Amino acid sequence: MKNCIAEGEKIERDIADHIAIAMKSWARSKGVTHYTHWFQPLTGLTAEKHDAFFDLSKDGELIETFDGGQLIQQEPDASSFPSGGIRNTFEARGYTAWDPTSPAFIIGKTLCIPTIFVSYTGEALDYKTPLLKALSAVDKAAVAVCKYFEKDVTKVNATLGWEQEYFLVDAALYKARPDLMLTGRTLFGRSSSKGQQLDDHYFGSIPERAAAFIKDFEYQALQLGIPVKTRHNEVAPNQFECAPVFEEANLAVDHNQLLMDLMGKVAVKHNLKVLFHEKPFAGINGSGKHNNWSLQTNEGKNLLSPGKTPRNNLRFLTFFVNTIKAVHDNADILRASIASVGNDHRLGGNEAPPAIISVFVGEQINKMLNEIEKRVNGKPMTEDEKSELKLDIGKIPQILLDNTDRNRTSPFAFTGNKFEFRAVGASANCASAMIAINSIVANQLLQFELDVDTMIKNGSKRDESIFKVLRKYIVDSKSVRFDGNGYSKEWEKEAEKRKLPNIKTTPEALEVLTAKKTKNIYEGLGVFSTIELQARKEIELDNYRLKVEIESNVIQDIVNNLIFPAAFNFQNVLLENVQGIKNVLGEKKTKAFAPQLDLILQISDMVTNISNQLHEIDTVKEKMIDNTNNSEVATTYCEKLLPAFKAIRSSVDDLESIIADDLWPLPKYRELLFC
Ligand code: ADP
Ligand code: MG
Repeated sequence: MKNCIAEGEKIERDIADHIAIAMKSWARSKGVTHYTHWFQPLTGLTAEKHDAFFDLSKDGELIETFDGGQLIQQEPDASSFPSGGIRNTFEARGYTAWDPTSPAFIIGKTLCIPTIFVSYTGEALDYKTPLLKALSAVDKAAVAVCKYFEKDVTKVNATLGWEQEYFLVDAALYKARPDLMLTGRTLFGRSSSKGQQLDDHYFGSIPERAAAFIKDFEYQALQLGIPVKTRHNEVAPNQFECAPVFEEANLAVDHNQLLMDLMGKVAVKHNLKVLFHEKPFAGINGSGKHNNWSLQTNEGKNLLSPGKTPRNNLRFLTFFVNTIKAVHDNADILRASIASVGNDHRLGGNEAPPAIISVFVGEQINKMLNEIEKRVNGKPMTEDEKSELKLDIGKIPQILLDNTDRNRTSPFAFTGNKFEFRAVGASANCASAMIAINSIVANQLLQFELDVDTMIKNGSKRDESIFKVLRKYIVDSKSVRFDGNGYSKEWEKEAEKRKLPNIKTTPEALEVLTAKKTKNIYEGLGVFSTIELQARKEIELDNYRLKVEIESNVIQDIVNNLIFPAAFNFQNVLLENVQGIKNVLGEKKTKAFAPQLDLILQISDMVTNISNQLHEIDTVKEKMIDNTNNSEVATTYCEKLLPAFKAIRSSVDDLESIIADDLWPLPKYRELLFC
């Protein structure tokens, strides 16, 4: 079993039978009655279908069953999971198959067995299948490159340490906000007079109510083997973060999915609601999920950890430069991997990286890379230069670790011994980003090996070949390196000059999934087939379309059923007041009722604005109603509906500022964020 996990070999049926018996007796000893295959369909949530540990025999008696067969494979009815057209509904069969590299766990009275989820014809319908393939691709490519430096590396694991940001709101207030309940974000709400301006929440003492919730879910997370370690307040009021110790990427992804689920359940007991939406509140920070990523050998060496002096450590430099080259060449693939309607609201907003993918490396490494670029101008190396390249020399300067990264504005930052992909959204399944990073790096490492071997074949020495190839990559990928303020307007202009893509919306970002380059990389590595890529694009576009449609429905309902009645009520109050004043003081005392009249007119204007925009939404939706081209619909929604949402919101928020508090039908930002 251990070999199977380490080498990815097939597990024989008789071994599986033994493991099933052991799993069952362990589970039964904990009072477990059911088991389930636990998987991650493309809904973004996790799925489970519970079966009891017993069956009926032919004569109707209960018999205990759970053998290798049930452990290895199941056949859930898959017809209601997104497939992007891969599986016709008449062929509803999908298979779940055991992933022995991720340990089974117990929730309540159920044994959960992590599995992949594929169609009858073998196409992936989940996140885990392509993730495992991408991890295997980067393993093979990295092991081959490691051979240039030492012979005993047999396996390279991608590591992932995620940092999960989230908001907490009181459950009762949450339930009084149909927009939060149905879309995960507030579609209306005037900024609280005090927001995060004072930065008094960040790293402050955790409020008692939140702390009780955090302690509770952390305890349960540890019981599930999720090594949660760090917790702190984030920048926005009621925003928090938790992070575990990093793990092998597949396990880390499972643990993140599991933890999000767990947090949701634990929150119920505390009368709280956890929000994982990327931008639940306008005007204050959104929530991300930084993905810290590195590569680690079977001997536990971190391949992105600089040696004792960085300029001399060729192996570090190799993996470091190849990663940057991969990001440079495939920034659009990375951007697509984090695209979602929620994340579009966050990217480029407060405390979130822009949609331009650039790499931060820090001053010292930048200097080193620039020196390498200058030093060997394609000429043969001098003896001095060669001896400097020798590995294992010198010690790591402490300043390197201290120096790297205090820049929080980069979407892809080197932080001393790992890269931190900060553009990932808080609600995302990390697998999506991990599939992209590991695949483009695997692809790049294969290219590197090819380039170096060609040079060696042509008579160049090994270290010199490596160095020259790296130098070329450093030059070719220079434009993606940026250490300045990623949030600034100047950077947008500069990035345009450098020809870096700045892809602002999801419909646009997803186009790359079916580009030739993308197919070549993913098919070449065996991560995705062309059909699977097409299907993923369809699912994501469909998801976008549906989510925007739901938001539009909710906006229409809230405006018609709550906002307009409140506006008219307040107008009536004002009208009555004006009438009363006139009755008592006479028509001529205009001074006494002029402000009220003004308010009445303002309200009418705002209501008119909102009505017009609602009408626009209807027109756009009607035009798209029979359109089955998801790309066209998503793009139209993005261009036409989102601006209408914004305009409506602006007028509704203006109404909120003038209508009497006791007549306002929704909990306000100051209530949601400060209790
Ligand atoms: P910050 O908030 O400064 O980004 P944190 O301490 O909150 O830092 O998070 C750093 C994360 O990086 C942790 O989850 C940690 O486990 C993870 N990490 C550290 N080393 C590695 C590595 N080699 N590979 C992947 N993740 C790592
Ligand atoms: Mg971080």
